Amino acid sequence: MTSLVLFDNGTHRNIFLEDFGRGQAVQANQHLIVDGDQGMLLDPGGHKVYAKLLSEVLAQLGPATLQHLFFSHQDPDVVAAANGWLMSTTAMAWTPVLWTRFIPHFGLDSLVADRLQPIADEGMVLPLGTSKMLILPAHFLHSPGNCQVYDPVSRILYSGDLGGSFGTQYQEVSDFEGHIQFMLSFHQRYMTGNKALRVWAKMVRQLDIEMIVPQHGAFFRGSAMVAQFVDWCERLQCGIDLMPETYLIPK
Ligand code: FE
Repeated sequence: MTSLVLFDNGTHRNIFLEDFGRGQAVQANQHLIVDGDQGMLLDPGGHKVYAKLLSEVLAQLGPATLQHLFFSHQDPDVVAAANGWLMSTTAMAWTPVLWTRFIPHFGLDSLVADRLQPIADEGMVLPLGTSKMLILPAHFLHSPGNCQVYDPVSRILYSGDLGGSFGTQYQEVSDFEGHIQFMLSFHQRYMTGNKALRVWAKMVRQLDIEMIVPQHGAFFRGSAMVAQFVDWCERLQCGIDLMPETYLIPK
């Protein structure tokens, strides 16, 4: 597991954690935000990374405590180890209201189940230390109940699966046009449709964003690169936009 500090002003830190030793499982990034004496872990992933990630998170937290776990949606690469995280920390876990009754099927112990809290469809503000994280609605990108996190201190937008790329050997995108090939098929199939992207683009253009950091693959840094990515999303045809008029019966 490698960690990269994306932002640090002395009281607020954003740490990018990634694990490349995962065999068949999809590559995933994990993100830790520490503000003063409180930490927040985003999309902590499944059992394969749990033990390594827990020790890395505890080391990065230092004297701070893990206050929040954020599950952007219901996929196993996000929530499969939810029970472990709830059992080994005192954190509250937050997930879109659509998924609060499904995630317990991953095996939440009754002792910790009440620490899984719903995020309303319209999003919410979540205090972290002396800061406030914005939990933004990003529904149908890709999950029907899906949220993202905007950190106004570091000006990082944590975009979950949106912006995910696969097969790159770099952590940061330097050539947007050359990077599209690593995102395109994933977005065309997993993202629900252009309408969802247009609504999202309209929302995020109101924010001052320095970086967009997805849950898979490389991140986007700088206002020009961020704008390029948002423009690309806004124009993309995907999901039901690309559906055929009918399916063929298998034979
Ligand atoms: Fe997903």
